[in-house]
Amino acid sequence: MLELKTANVFYDNSQALYGFSLAARMGEVVALIGRNGAGKSTALKAMAGWLRCRSGSLTVDGTQMDAPTPEEVNRAGVALVPEDRQVFPTLTVDENLRMARVTHAPARWRDGDVYDLFPRLAERRTASGAALSGGEQQMLAIGRALLCQPKVLLLDEPTEGLAPVVVNALIEAIRAISAEGVAIVFVEQNVRIPELLAHRFYVLDSGRIGWEGDRAALERDRIIVEHLISV
Ligand code: ATP
Repeated sequence: MLELKTANVFYDNSQALYGFSLAARMGEVVALIGRNGAGKSTALKAMAGWLRCRSGSLTVDGTQMDAPTPEEVNRAGVALVPEDRQVFPTLTVDENLRMARVTHAPARWRDGDVYDLFPRLAERRTASGAALSGGEQQMLAIGRALLCQPKVLLLDEPTEGLAPVVVNALIEAIRAISAEGVAIVFVEQNVRIPELLAHRFYVLDSGRIGWEGDRAALERDRIIVEHLISV
C-alpha cells in the first residue's frame, strides 16, 4: 500500500536519512523504532510528502509519485498524525471532525465511526480542542486523520506521555483500524508498545535502517535491537 525506497532526505546540507526504505501492506501494522534524533519523524514526513526526498521514490497504492506535494500524497490515501497532533484549539471536538471531512474519497469513516472507536471522545464532543487531555487530543487527531479516508495512516509517537488506560484504548483502536485494511506505520522510541501490536519492525539508527524483521525475528534478535535503541 505504501513503499518508500532508498530515500535520502536532507535539512539544508545536513543529511537525516540515508537510503531509507520501508514498506507497509494493506492491514499491516509496522513499527518504526529508534532513539531520539534517529530520524523517525523525518521518515514519516517523507512518507507523507511533508519533506521532499533528494532521491528515492514513494509509491502509494501502486502509483509512484515523483516529488509529490503533501496534498497529492494525502489525496492518494496517506494521512499523517504528527507528534504535536495539530487539533484546532478553539474549535469543539465536533467542529474539529467536521473540518477534516473530505469529498474526494468514498466515506468509509464518518464522525459516528470515530465516536464508536473512541467513546471518550463522544462524551467530549462539545469541548474545545484546548480543553482536551493529551489522550483525548491524540484520539481526536487520529479521528481527523480517519476522516481523510486513508489507505495508510502514519502516527508519530501516538502513546508518548499518556496514561496506561489511554494507551490501551489507543492500542485497541489501532488494531481495529488495521482490521479494516488500513496500513499503519507508527513511531515509538522503544519496543514495549510496538511488540504488542506490530506485525513488522524497522529500527532506525542515525538515519539508517539498523535492523528490520517480523515478530519471530525480533524475539531472536532482541539484544541487537535493544542495543540499537539504547541511549
Ligand atoms: P525524536 O524521537 O526526538 O522525535 P526522531 O527520531 O524523530 O527524534 P528526527 O526528528 O527525524 O528524529 O530528526 C533526525 C535528525 O534530523 C536529527 O539530527 C535532528 O536534529 C535533525 N532535524 C530534525 N528536524 C530538523 C529541522 N527542521 N531542521 C534541521 N535539522 C532537523
